[in-house]
Amino acid sequence: MPLTQSVEKILNYIGGELVAPQEGGWLDNFEPATGAVYSQVPDSSAADVERAVAAAQAAFPGWSQLSFEARASYLFRIADLIDRDMSQLVEAESMDNGKPLKRAAEVDIPRSSKNFRFYAGAVLNARTEAYTSPQVLNVTLRQPLGVVTCISPWNLPLYLLTWKVAPALLMGNCVIAKPSEVTPLTAYLLAQLCREAGLPAGVFNIVHGSGGNTGNAIIGHPGIKAVSFTGGTRTGRHIASVVAPQFKKLSLELGGKNPNLIFADCDYDKMLATTLRSSFANQGQICLCGSRIYVERGIYGKFRDDFVERSRRLKVGDPRLAETDLGAVVSRVHQEKILGAIERAKAEGGKVLCGGGPAEVGGRCSGGYFVQPTVIEGLSEQCATNQEEIFGPVVTLQPFDREEEAVALANATQYGLSSSLWTRDLSRAMRVAERIEAGVVWVNGWMVRDLRTPFGGVKQSGVGREGGDDALSFWIEKKNVCISY
Ligand code: NAD
Repeated sequence: MPLTQSVEKILNYIGGELVAPQEGGWLDNFEPATGAVYSQVPDSSAADVERAVAAAQAAFPGWSQLSFEARASYLFRIADLIDRDMSQLVEAESMDNGKPLKRAAEVDIPRSSKNFRFYAGAVLNARTEAYTSPQVLNVTLRQPLGVVTCISPWNLPLYLLTWKVAPALLMGNCVIAKPSEVTPLTAYLLAQLCREAGLPAGVFNIVHGSGGNTGNAIIGHPGIKAVSFTGGTRTGRHIASVVAPQFKKLSLELGGKNPNLIFADCDYDKMLATTLRSSFANQGQICLCGSRIYVERGIYGKFRDDFVERSRRLKVGDPRLAETDLGAVVSRVHQEKILGAIERAKAEGGKVLCGGGPAEVGGRCSGGYFVQPTVIEGLSEQCATNQEEIFGPVVTLQPFDREEEAVALANATQYGLSSSLWTRDLSRAMRVAERIEAGVVWVNGWMVRDLRTPFGGVKQSGVGREGGDDALSFWIEKKNVCISY
Protein backbone atom coordinates (compact mmCIF):
# COMPACT_ATOMS: atom_id res chain seq x y z
CA MET A 1 0.00 0.00 0.00
CA PRO A 2 1.42 3.48 -0.78
CA LEU A 3 2.60 5.36 2.29
CA THR A 4 0.16 8.19 1.64
CA GLN A 5 -2.70 5.84 2.41
CA SER A 6 -1.07 3.84 5.18
CA VAL A 7 0.01 6.52 7.70
CA GLU A 8 -2.93 8.45 9.03
CA LYS A 9 -1.58 9.27 12.43
CA ILE A 10 2.05 9.53 13.44
CA LEU A 11 2.61 8.44 17.03
CA ASN A 12 5.08 9.29 19.75
CA TYR A 13 7.63 6.64 20.78
CA ILE A 14 7.80 6.62 24.55
CA GLY A 15 8.99 3.85 26.86
CA GLY A 16 9.25 1.48 23.91
CA GLU A 17 5.59 2.00 22.90
CA LEU A 18 3.98 3.91 20.05
CA VAL A 19 1.49 6.21 21.75
CA ALA A 20 -0.88 9.07 20.98
CA PRO A 21 -0.37 12.42 22.75
CA GLN A 22 -2.03 12.36 26.17
CA GLU A 23 -3.90 15.62 25.73
CA GLY A 24 -4.95 14.89 22.18
CA GLY A 25 -3.25 17.74 20.31
CA TRP A 26 -2.64 17.03 16.62
CA LEU A 27 -1.15 19.00 13.73
CA ASP A 28 -1.82 18.46 10.03
CA ASN A 29 1.08 17.05 8.05
CA PHE A 30 1.29 18.22 4.42
CA GLU A 31 2.86 16.65 1.37
CA PRO A 32 4.79 19.63 -0.11
CA ALA A 33 4.61 18.35 -3.69
CA THR A 34 0.80 18.35 -3.70
CA GLY A 35 -0.19 20.65 -0.85
CA ALA A 36 -2.49 17.89 0.49
CA VAL A 37 -2.74 16.82 4.13
CA TYR A 38 -1.74 13.18 4.29
CA SER A 39 -1.39 12.52 8.03
CA GLN A 40 -1.48 14.07 11.45
CA VAL A 41 1.36 14.48 13.88
CA PRO A 42 1.09 14.89 17.68
CA ASP A 43 1.53 18.35 19.11
CA SER A 44 2.75 16.86 22.36
CA SER A 45 2.32 18.64 25.64
CA ALA A 46 4.41 18.90 28.81
CA ALA A 47 2.61 15.75 30.05
CA ASP A 48 4.01 13.71 27.13
CA VAL A 49 7.48 15.13 27.73
CA GLU A 50 7.18 14.24 31.42
CA ARG A 51 6.27 10.68 30.51
CA ALA A 52 9.22 10.43 28.11
CA VAL A 53 11.68 11.81 30.66
CA ALA A 54 10.41 9.34 33.26
CA ALA A 55 10.82 6.44 30.81
CA ALA A 56 14.32 7.59 29.91
CA GLN A 57 15.32 8.01 33.54
CA ALA A 58 14.09 4.50 34.29
CA ALA A 59 16.10 3.10 31.38
CA PHE A 60 19.31 5.01 32.12
CA PRO A 61 20.89 2.82 34.82
CA GLY A 62 20.63 -0.32 32.70
CA TRP A 63 21.69 1.31 29.42
CA SER A 64 24.62 3.24 30.85
CA GLN A 65 25.94 0.11 32.54
CA LEU A 66 26.04 -1.92 29.32
CA SER A 67 29.41 -2.36 27.67
CA PHE A 68 30.27 -0.20 24.65
CA GLU A 69 30.10 -3.33 22.51
CA ALA A 70 26.60 -4.14 23.69
CA ARG A 71 25.34 -0.64 22.98
CA ALA A 72 27.10 -0.63 19.61
CA SER A 73 25.41 -3.88 18.66
CA TYR A 74 21.99 -2.20 18.92
CA LEU A 75 23.23 0.65 16.71
CA PHE A 76 24.50 -1.82 14.10
CA ARG A 77 21.13 -3.59 14.16
CA ILE A 78 19.24 -0.33 13.62
CA ALA A 79 21.58 0.55 10.73
CA ASP A 80 20.88 -2.84 9.12
CA LEU A 81 17.12 -2.32 9.46
CA ILE A 82 17.34 1.14 7.86
CA ASP A 83 19.19 -0.43 4.94
CA ARG A 84 16.61 -3.21 4.70
CA ASP A 85 13.76 -0.66 4.53
CA MET A 86 15.70 1.78 2.35
CA SER A 87 13.10 2.12 -0.39
CA GLN A 88 10.23 2.74 2.03
CA LEU A 89 12.24 5.33 3.95
CA VAL A 90 13.33 7.03 0.73
CA GLU A 91 9.72 7.28 -0.40
CA ALA A 92 8.68 8.61 3.01
CA GLU A 93 11.41 11.26 3.17
CA SER A 94 10.67 12.48 -0.33
CA MET A 95 6.94 12.63 0.31
CA ASP A 96 7.25 14.35 3.67
CA ASN A 97 9.88 16.91 2.67
CA GLY A 98 9.29 17.46 -1.06
CA LYS A 99 12.87 16.53 -2.02
CA PRO A 100 13.45 14.46 -5.17
CA LEU A 101 13.22 10.74 -4.56
CA LYS A 102 16.67 10.30 -6.06
CA ARG A 103 18.20 12.72 -3.55
CA ALA A 104 16.68 10.87 -0.60
CA ALA A 105 17.98 7.63 -2.14
CA GLU A 106 21.49 8.95 -2.76
CA VAL A 107 22.01 11.08 0.34
CA ASP A 108 19.45 11.20 3.14
CA ILE A 109 18.68 7.60 3.94
CA PRO A 110 22.08 6.00 3.20
CA ARG A 111 23.64 8.66 5.41
CA SER A 112 21.15 7.85 8.20
CA SER A 113 22.23 4.22 8.43
CA LYS A 114 25.83 5.34 8.04
CA ASN A 115 25.44 7.60 11.09
CA PHE A 116 24.48 4.62 13.24
CA ARG A 117 27.18 2.42 11.75
CA PHE A 118 29.86 5.11 12.01
CA TYR A 119 29.22 5.72 15.69
CA ALA A 120 28.80 2.03 16.46
CA GLY A 121 32.28 1.62 14.98
CA ALA A 122 33.57 4.48 17.12
CA VAL A 123 33.59 2.01 19.97
CA LEU A 124 37.00 1.06 18.59
CA ASN A 125 38.25 4.53 19.51
CA ALA A 126 36.73 4.60 22.96
CA ARG A 127 39.66 5.49 25.16
CA THR A 128 40.45 7.65 28.11
CA GLU A 129 43.37 9.55 29.59
CA ALA A 130 45.65 8.47 32.42
CA TYR A 131 48.53 10.49 33.90
CA THR A 132 51.05 8.96 36.22
CA SER A 133 53.54 10.48 38.61
CA PRO A 134 55.35 8.85 41.55
CA GLN A 135 52.73 7.16 43.72
CA VAL A 136 49.89 8.96 41.98
CA LEU A 137 47.66 7.77 39.15
CA ASN A 138 45.16 10.12 37.53
CA VAL A 139 42.56 8.39 35.41
CA THR A 140 39.73 10.14 33.63
CA LEU A 141 36.31 8.52 33.60
CA ARG A 142 34.08 9.38 30.65
CA GLN A 143 30.57 9.16 32.04
CA PRO A 144 27.28 9.58 30.20
CA LEU A 145 25.22 12.63 31.08
CA GLY A 146 21.87 10.94 31.70
CA VAL A 147 18.71 11.95 29.84
CA VAL A 148 19.48 14.27 26.93
CA THR A 149 17.61 15.79 24.01
CA CYS A 150 18.25 16.01 20.27
CA ILE A 151 16.17 18.60 18.40
CA SER A 152 16.39 18.58 14.61
CA PRO A 153 15.11 20.55 11.60
CA TRP A 154 13.14 19.62 8.49
CA ASN A 155 15.70 19.96 5.71
CA LEU A 156 17.52 16.63 6.19
CA PRO A 157 15.07 15.01 8.58
CA LEU A 158 16.36 11.49 9.29
CA TYR A 159 19.96 12.32 8.39
CA LEU A 160 20.31 15.08 11.02
CA LEU A 161 18.25 13.31 13.68
CA THR A 162 20.37 10.15 13.53
CA TRP A 163 23.59 12.21 13.40
CA LYS A 164 22.79 13.35 16.94
CA VAL A 165 21.03 10.32 18.37
CA ALA A 166 23.66 7.71 17.43
CA PRO A 167 26.61 9.19 19.39
CA ALA A 168 24.36 10.12 22.31
CA LEU A 169 23.17 6.52 22.64
CA LEU A 170 26.61 5.01 22.08
CA MET A 171 28.06 7.02 24.97
CA GLY A 172 25.38 5.64 27.31
CA ASN A 173 22.79 8.40 27.40
CA CYS A 174 19.03 7.98 27.08
CA VAL A 175 17.52 10.26 24.48
CA ILE A 176 14.36 12.30 24.01
CA ALA A 177 14.34 13.34 20.35
CA LYS A 178 12.10 15.97 18.84
CA PRO A 179 12.08 15.91 15.05
CA SER A 180 10.70 18.85 13.12
CA GLU A 181 6.91 18.87 13.24
CA VAL A 182 7.03 19.69 9.52
CA THR A 183 8.76 16.39 8.60
CA PRO A 184 8.00 13.76 11.26
CA LEU A 185 7.42 10.68 9.10
CA THR A 186 10.84 9.01 8.89
CA ALA A 187 11.38 9.50 12.63
CA TYR A 188 8.14 7.59 13.17
CA LEU A 189 9.35 4.80 10.89
CA LEU A 190 12.69 4.79 12.75
CA ALA A 191 10.80 4.28 16.02
CA GLN A 192 9.25 1.16 14.55
CA LEU A 193 12.69 -0.11 13.52
CA CYS A 194 14.07 0.54 17.01
CA ARG A 195 11.28 -1.59 18.44
CA GLU A 196 12.12 -4.33 15.97
CA ALA A 197 15.82 -4.04 16.88
CA GLY A 198 14.88 -4.78 20.49
CA LEU A 199 16.27 -1.51 21.81
CA PRO A 200 15.39 -1.53 25.52
CA ALA A 201 12.28 0.48 26.38
CA GLY A 202 12.92 4.11 27.29
CA VAL A 203 16.48 4.27 25.94
CA PHE A 204 15.32 6.27 22.92
CA ASN A 205 12.09 8.26 22.89
CA ILE A 206 10.63 10.44 20.17
CA VAL A 207 8.18 13.14 21.18
CA HIS A 208 6.63 14.92 18.22
CA GLY A 209 5.27 18.43 18.22
CA SER A 210 5.77 22.11 17.63
CA GLY A 211 8.68 24.09 19.01
CA GLY A 212 6.43 26.32 21.06
CA ASN A 213 4.69 23.45 22.87
CA THR A 214 6.83 20.32 22.81
CA GLY A 215 10.21 21.95 22.22
CA ASN A 216 9.87 24.41 25.06
CA ALA A 217 8.65 21.69 27.42
CA ILE A 218 11.73 19.61 26.61
CA ILE A 219 14.42 22.28 26.90
CA GLY A 220 12.98 23.62 30.15
CA HIS A 221 12.65 20.21 31.80
CA PRO A 222 15.05 19.90 34.75
CA GLY A 223 15.56 16.19 34.00
CA ILE A 224 17.23 16.96 30.65
CA LYS A 225 20.99 17.25 31.07
CA ALA A 226 22.08 18.34 27.60
CA VAL A 227 20.55 19.88 24.50
CA SER A 228 21.86 19.28 21.00
CA PHE A 229 20.01 21.51 18.56
CA THR A 230 20.15 22.03 14.81
CA GLY A 231 17.92 24.69 13.32
CA GLY A 232 17.57 28.41 12.80
CA THR A 233 19.69 31.03 14.54
CA ARG A 234 16.68 32.75 16.09
CA THR A 235 15.48 29.48 17.65
CA GLY A 236 19.02 28.73 18.80
CA ARG A 237 19.20 32.10 20.57
CA HIS A 238 15.94 31.36 22.38
CA ILE A 239 17.13 27.89 23.38
CA ALA A 240 20.42 29.30 24.68
CA SER A 241 18.52 31.82 26.78
CA VAL A 242 16.50 29.02 28.41
CA VAL A 243 19.25 26.42 28.73
CA ALA A 244 22.27 28.51 29.76
CA PRO A 245 20.88 29.61 33.16
CA GLN A 246 20.21 25.94 33.91
CA PHE A 247 23.88 25.13 33.08
CA LYS A 248 22.94 22.29 30.77
CA LYS A 249 25.42 21.25 28.12
CA LEU A 250 24.47 22.90 24.83
CA SER A 251 25.44 22.36 21.21
CA LEU A 252 23.99 24.69 18.57
CA GLU A 253 24.20 24.10 14.81
CA LEU A 254 22.51 27.13 13.28
CA GLY A 255 21.93 29.02 10.05
CA GLY A 256 24.36 30.11 7.38
CA LYS A 257 24.90 32.51 4.50
CA ASN A 258 27.78 30.68 2.92
CA PRO A 259 30.16 32.26 0.38
CA ASN A 260 31.68 30.64 -2.70
CA LEU A 261 34.96 32.31 -3.69
CA ILE A 262 35.82 31.52 -7.29
CA PHE A 263 39.27 32.51 -8.58
CA ALA A 264 40.06 32.68 -12.29
CA ASP A 265 42.67 29.91 -12.08
CA CYS A 266 40.19 27.27 -10.91
CA ASP A 267 39.25 24.02 -12.67
CA TYR A 268 36.38 25.77 -14.42
CA ASP A 269 34.22 22.82 -15.46
CA LYS A 270 34.40 21.12 -12.08
CA MET A 271 33.71 24.45 -10.36
CA LEU A 272 30.68 25.17 -12.56
CA ALA A 273 29.07 21.77 -12.02
CA THR A 274 29.74 21.84 -8.27
CA THR A 275 28.55 25.42 -7.84
CA LEU A 276 25.28 24.48 -9.51
CA ARG A 277 24.86 21.70 -6.90
CA SER A 278 25.94 23.83 -3.95
CA SER A 279 23.36 26.43 -5.00
CA PHE A 280 20.31 24.29 -5.71
CA ALA A 281 20.68 20.83 -4.17
CA ASN A 282 17.69 20.00 -1.97
CA GLN A 283 16.04 23.19 -3.38
CA GLY A 284 18.79 25.23 -1.70
CA GLN A 285 17.60 24.00 1.69
CA ILE A 286 20.89 22.70 3.06
CA CYS A 287 22.60 24.76 5.74
CA LEU A 288 25.82 24.25 3.72
CA CYS A 289 24.49 25.56 0.40
CA GLY A 290 26.53 28.45 -0.97
CA SER A 291 24.18 31.40 -1.44
CA ARG A 292 26.68 34.22 -2.12
CA ILE A 293 28.83 33.56 -5.17
CA TYR A 294 31.86 35.83 -5.59
CA VAL A 295 33.78 35.47 -8.85
CA GLU A 296 37.11 36.99 -9.89
CA ARG A 297 36.34 39.66 -12.48
CA GLY A 298 38.37 38.07 -15.29
CA ILE A 299 35.92 35.16 -15.55
CA TYR A 300 32.83 36.83 -14.11
CA GLY A 301 31.01 37.37 -17.41
CA LYS A 302 31.66 33.87 -18.68
CA PHE A 303 30.68 32.33 -15.36
CA ARG A 304 27.48 34.37 -15.15
CA ASP A 305 26.37 33.35 -18.64
CA ASP A 306 27.23 29.66 -18.18
CA PHE A 307 25.75 29.47 -14.69
CA VAL A 308 22.49 31.12 -15.70
CA GLU A 309 22.20 28.89 -18.73
CA ARG A 310 22.76 25.76 -16.62
CA SER A 311 20.35 26.99 -13.94
CA ARG A 312 17.62 27.52 -16.53
CA ARG A 313 18.02 23.93 -17.67
CA LEU A 314 17.37 22.49 -14.20
CA LYS A 315 14.05 20.70 -14.06
CA VAL A 316 11.68 21.64 -11.28
CA GLY A 317 9.07 18.94 -10.97
CA ASP A 318 7.38 16.05 -9.25
CA PRO A 319 9.84 14.66 -6.68
CA ARG A 320 8.87 11.15 -7.72
CA LEU A 321 10.21 11.54 -11.27
CA ALA A 322 13.77 10.56 -12.09
CA GLU A 323 14.34 13.60 -14.32
CA THR A 324 13.47 16.07 -11.54
CA ASP A 325 16.39 18.18 -10.28
CA LEU A 326 14.47 20.35 -7.82
CA GLY A 327 11.39 19.13 -5.97
CA ALA A 328 9.07 21.17 -3.76
CA VAL A 329 10.20 23.41 -0.92
CA VAL A 330 9.04 22.19 2.44
CA SER A 331 5.89 24.19 3.15
CA ARG A 332 3.58 26.92 1.91
CA VAL A 333 4.94 29.24 4.62
CA HIS A 334 8.50 28.59 3.52
CA GLN A 335 7.62 29.06 -0.16
CA GLU A 336 6.12 32.44 0.72
CA LYS A 337 9.23 33.38 2.70
CA ILE A 338 11.49 32.56 -0.28
CA LEU A 339 9.28 34.42 -2.75
CA GLY A 340 9.19 37.39 -0.37
CA ALA A 341 13.00 37.38 -0.24
CA ILE A 342 13.13 37.47 -4.06
CA GLU A 343 10.76 40.46 -4.12
CA ARG A 344 12.92 42.18 -1.51
CA ALA A 345 16.02 41.54 -3.66
CA LYS A 346 14.29 43.24 -6.58
CA ALA A 347 13.33 46.19 -4.36
CA GLU A 348 16.96 46.43 -3.25
CA GLY A 349 17.97 46.88 -6.90
CA GLY A 350 18.87 43.28 -7.72
CA LYS A 351 18.60 42.11 -11.31
CA VAL A 352 17.00 38.67 -11.62
CA LEU A 353 18.98 36.76 -14.26
CA CYS A 354 16.80 33.65 -14.14
CA GLY A 355 13.92 32.28 -12.12
CA GLY A 356 12.42 34.80 -9.75
CA GLY A 357 9.07 33.23 -8.92
CA PRO A 358 7.06 30.10 -8.19
CA ALA A 359 7.41 27.19 -10.61
CA GLU A 360 4.19 25.75 -12.03
CA VAL A 361 4.21 21.98 -11.97
CA GLY A 362 1.02 20.48 -13.25
CA GLY A 363 -0.79 17.20 -12.73
CA ARG A 364 -0.83 15.80 -9.20
CA CYS A 365 1.60 18.60 -8.18
CA SER A 366 -0.54 21.56 -9.23
CA GLY A 367 -1.13 22.51 -5.56
CA GLY A 368 2.52 22.01 -4.51
CA TYR A 369 5.12 24.49 -3.28
CA PHE A 370 7.69 24.96 -6.03
CA VAL A 371 10.22 27.74 -6.61
CA GLN A 372 12.32 28.35 -9.72
CA PRO A 373 16.10 28.30 -9.33
CA THR A 374 16.85 31.99 -9.05
CA VAL A 375 20.07 33.90 -9.79
CA ILE A 376 20.39 37.58 -8.90
CA GLU A 377 23.18 40.10 -9.52
CA GLY A 378 23.84 43.75 -8.84
CA LEU A 379 23.44 43.80 -5.05
CA SER A 380 25.86 45.06 -2.42
CA GLU A 381 27.11 42.74 0.29
CA GLN A 382 25.37 44.85 2.94
CA CYS A 383 21.80 44.49 1.63
CA ALA A 384 19.34 42.20 3.41
CA THR A 385 19.41 39.71 0.52
CA ASN A 386 23.12 39.12 1.16
CA GLN A 387 22.86 39.29 4.94
CA GLU A 388 19.85 37.14 5.81
CA GLU A 389 19.49 33.43 5.27
CA ILE A 390 16.88 32.65 2.60
CA PHE A 391 17.25 28.84 2.69
CA GLY A 392 15.84 28.31 -0.78
CA PRO A 393 17.01 28.07 -4.41
CA VAL A 394 18.20 31.67 -4.56
CA VAL A 395 21.81 32.84 -5.05
CA THR A 396 23.48 36.17 -5.70
CA LEU A 397 26.50 36.86 -7.95
CA GLN A 398 29.12 39.54 -7.45
CA PRO A 399 32.56 40.11 -9.03
CA PHE A 400 35.75 40.84 -7.09
CA ASP A 401 39.17 42.06 -8.14
CA ARG A 402 41.61 41.13 -5.38
CA GLU A 403 42.10 38.29 -2.89
CA GLU A 404 41.81 40.74 0.03
CA GLU A 405 38.46 41.89 -1.26
CA ALA A 406 37.25 38.30 -1.70
CA VAL A 407 38.07 37.50 1.93
CA ALA A 408 36.36 40.66 3.14
CA LEU A 409 33.23 39.81 1.13
CA ALA A 410 33.21 36.25 2.45
CA ASN A 411 33.36 37.51 6.03
CA ALA A 412 30.85 40.31 5.62
CA THR A 413 27.93 38.58 7.36
CA GLN A 414 26.92 37.63 10.87
CA TYR A 415 27.15 33.94 9.88
CA GLY A 416 30.13 31.60 9.64
CA LEU A 417 29.11 28.06 8.81
CA SER A 418 30.81 26.87 5.63
CA SER A 419 32.49 28.20 2.51
CA SER A 420 33.82 26.95 -0.82
CA LEU A 421 37.01 28.18 -2.35
CA TRP A 422 38.04 27.50 -5.97
CA THR A 423 41.66 27.95 -7.04
CA ARG A 424 44.58 25.87 -8.27
CA ASP A 425 47.03 27.95 -6.25
CA LEU A 426 47.70 25.97 -3.09
CA SER A 427 49.36 28.87 -1.28
CA ARG A 428 46.36 31.07 -1.94
CA ALA A 429 44.00 28.29 -0.89
CA MET A 430 45.69 28.01 2.50
CA ARG A 431 46.04 31.78 2.93
CA VAL A 432 42.36 32.35 2.26
CA ALA A 433 41.19 29.28 4.20
CA GLU A 434 42.99 30.53 7.30
CA ARG A 435 41.23 33.89 7.08
CA ILE A 436 37.69 32.85 6.26
CA GLU A 437 35.44 33.03 9.30
CA ALA A 438 33.70 29.67 8.98
CA GLY A 439 33.72 26.28 10.65
CA VAL A 440 34.20 24.44 7.35
CA VAL A 441 36.19 25.48 4.26
CA TRP A 442 36.00 23.34 1.16
CA VAL A 443 38.80 23.85 -1.35
CA ASN A 444 37.81 22.78 -4.87
CA GLY A 445 34.75 20.90 -3.65
CA TRP A 446 31.52 21.09 -1.72
CA MET A 447 29.86 18.83 0.84
CA VAL A 448 32.71 16.37 0.77
CA ARG A 449 32.10 14.81 4.16
CA ASP A 450 34.28 12.62 6.37
CA LEU A 451 32.31 11.88 9.52
CA ARG A 452 35.47 11.98 11.65
CA THR A 453 36.00 15.70 11.01
CA PRO A 454 34.72 18.49 13.28
CA PHE A 455 31.52 20.02 11.94
CA GLY A 456 29.95 23.29 13.06
CA GLY A 457 29.91 27.04 12.73
CA VAL A 458 31.31 30.25 14.17
CA LYS A 459 29.68 33.65 14.79
CA GLN A 460 25.87 33.33 14.54
CA SER A 461 26.14 29.89 12.93
CA GLY A 462 26.54 28.06 16.18
CA VAL A 463 28.48 26.92 19.18
CA GLY A 464 30.29 23.60 19.43
CA ARG A 465 31.21 20.90 16.97
CA GLU A 466 29.59 17.65 15.91
CA GLY A 467 31.28 14.69 14.22
CA GLY A 468 33.97 12.25 15.29
CA ASP A 469 35.52 12.74 18.70
CA ASP A 470 33.79 16.08 19.20
CA ALA A 471 30.38 14.43 19.31
CA LEU A 472 31.60 11.65 21.58
CA SER A 473 33.03 14.26 23.98
CA PHE A 474 29.87 16.34 23.94
CA TRP A 475 27.80 13.43 25.17
CA ILE A 476 29.91 12.66 28.25
CA GLU A 477 31.17 14.36 31.35
CA LYS A 478 34.81 13.77 32.21
CA LYS A 479 35.60 12.95 35.80
CA ASN A 480 39.17 12.76 36.98
CA VAL A 481 39.91 10.15 39.64
CA CYS A 482 43.23 10.73 41.38
CA ILE A 483 44.60 7.69 43.19
CA SER A 484 47.49 8.07 45.62
CA TYR A 485 49.23 4.83 46.50
P1 NAD B 1 13.75 25.88 13.36
O1 NAD B 1 14.74 26.58 14.22
O2 NAD B 1 12.47 26.54 13.06
O3 NAD B 1 13.36 24.47 13.99
C1 NAD B 1 14.31 23.47 14.27
C2 NAD B 1 13.75 22.55 15.33
O4 NAD B 1 13.62 23.29 16.54
C3 NAD B 1 12.37 21.99 15.02
O5 NAD B 1 12.28 20.66 15.50
C4 NAD B 1 11.46 22.91 15.81
O6 NAD B 1 10.23 22.35 16.15
C5 NAD B 1 12.31 23.12 17.05
N1 NAD B 1 11.97 24.30 17.84
C6 NAD B 1 11.43 25.47 17.40
N2 NAD B 1 11.22 26.28 18.45
C7 NAD B 1 11.67 25.64 19.55
C8 NAD B 1 11.71 25.97 20.94
N3 NAD B 1 11.26 27.12 21.39
N4 NAD B 1 12.23 25.07 21.80
C9 NAD B 1 12.70 23.90 21.34
N5 NAD B 1 12.65 23.51 20.05
C10 NAD B 1 12.15 24.38 19.17
O7 NAD B 1 14.53 25.51 12.02
P2 NAD B 1 13.94 24.84 10.72
O8 NAD B 1 13.16 25.87 9.99
O9 NAD B 1 13.33 23.53 11.06
O10 NAD B 1 15.29 24.51 9.92
C11 NAD B 1 15.92 25.41 9.07
C12 NAD B 1 17.11 26.06 9.77
O11 NAD B 1 18.01 25.07 10.24
C13 NAD B 1 17.93 26.93 8.85
O12 NAD B 1 18.26 28.12 9.52
C14 NAD B 1 19.18 26.12 8.60
O13 NAD B 1 20.33 26.86 8.27
C15 NAD B 1 19.35 25.42 9.90
N6 NAD B 1 20.17 24.23 9.76
C16 NAD B 1 21.44 24.25 10.29
C17 NAD B 1 22.27 23.15 10.15
C18 NAD B 1 23.67 23.12 10.71
O14 NAD B 1 24.25 22.05 10.76
N7 NAD B 1 24.22 24.24 11.13
C19 NAD B 1 21.79 22.02 9.48
C20 NAD B 1 20.51 22.04 8.94
C21 NAD B 1 19.69 23.15 9.11
